[in-house]
Amino acid sequence: MKLIVFYSLVILSLPNVSCQSTQPNSNNIAMNNKDSFEIQKTDEEWKAQLSDFEYEVLRNKGTERPYSSEYETLWDEGIYVCKGCGTELFESKTKFDASCGWPSFYQSIDKKAIKEILDTSHGMVRTEVVCAKCGGHLGHVFNDGYNQPTGLRYCINGISLGFKKKEK
Ligand SMILES: [Zn+2]
Repeated sequence: MKLIVFYSLVILSLPNVSCQSTQPNSNNIAMNNKDSFEIQKTDEEWKAQLSDFEYEVLRNKGTERPYSSEYETLWDEGIYVCKGCGTELFESKTKFDASCGWPSFYQSIDKKAIKEILDTSHGMVRTEVVCAKCGGHLGHVFNDGYNQPTGLRYCINGISLGFKKKEK
């Protein structure tokens, strides 16, 4: 009798276990956290403001093709901002050539400017980086920023960014 009770408990608790293991999906977390971003817009409003591909990356977590962004090889002095809301995100002095095909930085302009979210989509465990103000998807951060002061590599879609060149 005790065994039967035990097995029913195991079976009853299984759905919870499976829910937990699939929970850290970036889409789910972003949806859950949607309200925590200061800038709130409907999909229609974002679509009106952004180009189709900007919308695909920033709002649908798409990825641009490697070596497709003009920012990948841009070494001018200035500040990279969020294409969605204009928030300053990265300084050019923290940009480095990671030879990975995407603009790479070793740190953000301010820890509060970006938000990092666990992302287990596509069978990988990665840390997604989003704009802390509008929730726009920027890219991912990895621990392979070799020879960089922080050891980090913020691998960012150039399409998610704008660039404000430093005035001389
Ligand atoms: Zn933003």
